[in-house]
Amino acid sequence: MNLPDNPERTVVGRLAPSPTGGLHLGHARTFLIAWLAARQAGGRMILRIEDLDASRVRPGAREGAVADLRWLGFDWDHGPDGGGPAGPYVQSERTSFYDRALDQLKAGEWVYPCTCTRAEVARAASAPHADEEGPVYPGTCASRRAADALALTGRPFAWRSRTPAETIVWNDLFQGRIEVSPDRLGGDFIVARHAVGHAYQLAVVVDDHAMGVTQVIRGLDLIPSTPRQILLYRRLGWSVPDFGHVPLAVDGEGRRLAKRSESLKLETLRAAGADPRGLIGLLAQSCGWSSVLEPSRPGDWIGRVGPGAIPGEPWVVPHDLMTRLII
Ligand code: GLU
Ligand code: ZN
Repeated sequence: MNLPDNPERTVVGRLAPSPTGGLHLGHARTFLIAWLAARQAGGRMILRIEDLDASRVRPGAREGAVADLRWLGFDWDHGPDGGGPAGPYVQSERTSFYDRALDQLKAGEWVYPCTCTRAEVARAASAPHADEEGPVYPGTCASRRAADALALTGRPFAWRSRTPAETIVWNDLFQGRIEVSPDRLGGDFIVARHAVGHAYQLAVVVDDHAMGVTQVIRGLDLIPSTPRQILLYRRLGWSVPDFGHVPLAVDGEGRRLAKRSESLKLETLRAAGADPRGLIGLLAQSCGWSSVLEPSRPGDWIGRVGPGAIPGEPWVVPHDLMTRLII
């Protein structure tokens, strides 16, 4: 159960879209980098649909994401459409795996039941808000043991993971050495809500482990999640994959592309007749792999890109994108 499905340690990468609001150009660029990193190493690729947050999942978005990825020319060895040895590849169908890992964390007393409401946490927090991470959890319920949950009948509660006062360090494939203290970054974090569902932090670790993923390449916005995930890997006794965080795409005003930027969504570009080869060429050019826009498929770049070769700053999406892509 603890051995991933990857005894030979082949490079295994993954694309993990959330079917919440349509993929945009920033996702396409991160996926190109992740896909190439695995394929250049002769590795395998997994597609996993991250649909745990039911309130944000949009009907048809899963099929849309798969269609966008195929349109751009990506392929994968295992995914929701073809199955594979570590399936299912859709998070909402993997609850029993997450339950088993949560039981392991309970048995180790790594998690405890927390009955605090959001408002209580905000009121009791001594530290100021750590920007998007919200207030640091003040530890109100941390003296509970896992078995105390049995006495909480009828009360809603969440399972929180204890965070040590120690620094977590990793060598990021693109950002170099990163050091973060998870106890200051939001403190004890939620891994599941009783009778509601499991949290992203737990699900992603369980899945990447079970699917033998050795290389997690994703957007820079997920850096705050990485130390929490590394903690979970350690507590579950699993080997930690390599992490690489890719700078985000921004618009002309320097704002992060949001899922609501309709014009920069892949499905909008696809419907408008944009050339996917032009788009891949533009993304490759934005990564500095070519000085000119070479219309291409992702596979055309295999063997042409150095490891870690991406610009360190955010990618500013050109304002005349459509005129460049529609031919
Ligand atoms: N599903 C997440 C997203 O679309 C990515 C999570 C990950 O790569 O770990 O933002
Ligand atoms: Zn609490």
